[in-house]
Amino acid sequence: MNSPPPLWIRNFVEGRFVEPDPDRSFPAVDPATGSVIARVHEADRALVDRAVTGARRALDTGWAQTPVRERAALLRRAADRIQERFEEFVAAEVADTGKPVTQARELDVARALTNFRTFADVVAAAGQESFLTELPGGRTALNYAVRKPLGVVAVIVPWNLPLLLLTWKVAPALACGNAVVVKPSEETPATATLLAEVLAEVGLPAGVYNVVHGFGPDSAGQYLVEHPSIDGVTFTGSSATGAHVMKTVAPRVRPVSFELGGKNAALVFDDVDLDEALDGLSRSVFTNTGQVCLCTERVYIQRSIFDDIAAGLAERARALRLGSPLDTETTTGPLISQAHREKVLSYFELAEQSGASIIAGGRVPELGPGLDDGSWIAPTLWTGLTNADRVVREEIFGPVAALIPFDTEAEAIALANDTDYGLAAAVWTNDLRRGHRVAQSMRVGMAWVNTWFLRDLRSPFGGVGLSGIGREGGESSLHFYTEPTNVCVQL
Ligand code: NAD
Repeated sequence: MNSPPPLWIRNFVEGRFVEPDPDRSFPAVDPATGSVIARVHEADRALVDRAVTGARRALDTGWAQTPVRERAALLRRAADRIQERFEEFVAAEVADTGKPVTQARELDVARALTNFRTFADVVAAAGQESFLTELPGGRTALNYAVRKPLGVVAVIVPWNLPLLLLTWKVAPALACGNAVVVKPSEETPATATLLAEVLAEVGLPAGVYNVVHGFGPDSAGQYLVEHPSIDGVTFTGSSATGAHVMKTVAPRVRPVSFELGGKNAALVFDDVDLDEALDGLSRSVFTNTGQVCLCTERVYIQRSIFDDIAAGLAERARALRLGSPLDTETTTGPLISQAHREKVLSYFELAEQSGASIIAGGRVPELGPGLDDGSWIAPTLWTGLTNADRVVREEIFGPVAALIPFDTEAEAIALANDTDYGLAAAVWTNDLRRGHRVAQSMRVGMAWVNTWFLRDLRSPFGGVGLSGIGREGGESSLHFYTEPTNVCVQL
């Protein structure tokens, strides 16, 4: 019997899908079941070059000069079209990541729409800076800045929130009149490809949005950042890859925007409303199977409530429902791949060697037929670790957290800030002044008080230290995706 032809995930270059090359392809795997769902055409250097030169041509033949209101209108049409094809995006994201369908609907694809709509609004409302400079003798000079597109932007994104993170960059880049060459994660190629269809359907000129598939080193990712015609790189991924990308573009002095890893802390004070804090903590540790850069992996708890928080969080970990992503009752999907599970399991071993006690999880669960070959892992909590342990210092990127007691506010702040990362923190307290005080003393890009992952897309997003360079969101995105030319006119 003949097997059915493979479903191809294709590259999208110069406004067209490229005929795939079976000799240069890799499988797309559903991490919930371990089954191959498609083949992905890996772009070679020549194809990446075509994408970049095509993007440059598209810029030069008019896209960069398109009036802002037309670009904003196009972004709104893109959002409307994603809405119309909503369930296709959901299905593609679920198949690539194994994440629960409910989450894909409520978070991933919903945020993609919002990203387009938000940046249509932000760019339409943006003004230009001007200064009236007083000169000796009573004369003045008018200084104003004209913002121009950055140019051809390389967009490199990871697998954890594929469409959400992609559109978070593509929407403002297009809003500002740039052309983009997108390199989605090799683990999650589908939704970036579907987005190419949508953008073509709503009238984006050929060459403005390109997708090249492949890996990092010696593949499409590296070819893209090495390309001499790239004007900037916006990258979300691990800190180690970020450092590598930075080195690659350094000789050509290109701007970078980096959203990198995290080892985020929660600080829980003894004046909290226990149930509210526990629900919030549970979300912050376990959302997307802990595979959100903002997820909490270190929970510092004031000693008098340590046992209550530990017991309550363990109870919530055990209540999570792992299972088929298509079941709307499922709360927790698999890890992205077997390779990533190996990495997470290596930290289970390290935790044991460091003398940790497991108060929830700590094992590979058995979920039964159909899911046996998926990369599942039980939500896991440890006590008995300290900031000196690697498990508490290194990003694990799984549904895991170390619970550590503290006595005073000063100690909590010192423990939370004792990290090379600096992405996010969450402070749980009912004391208003303490909330502000502690949040402001966090060495991070984003600090929440009594909530987590609550985002106003006009506010700056990013991290310090190993967690990144620059900010995106609202005006911050407009600043990255444009270059100002200052004009000074003596009056
Ligand atoms: P990764 O760094 O392995 O890969 C990210 C992307 O970079 C992928 O598309 C990959 O193919 C590409 N890449 C890898 N090597 C490259 C190279 N040498 N040149 C060019 N491109 C290259 O990260 P990942 O495992 O896909 O994602 C998980 C990481 O992303 C975690 O560290 C997580 O914290 C981070 N992350 C950060 C944020 C944020 O906003 N700060 C958001 C989500 C994820």
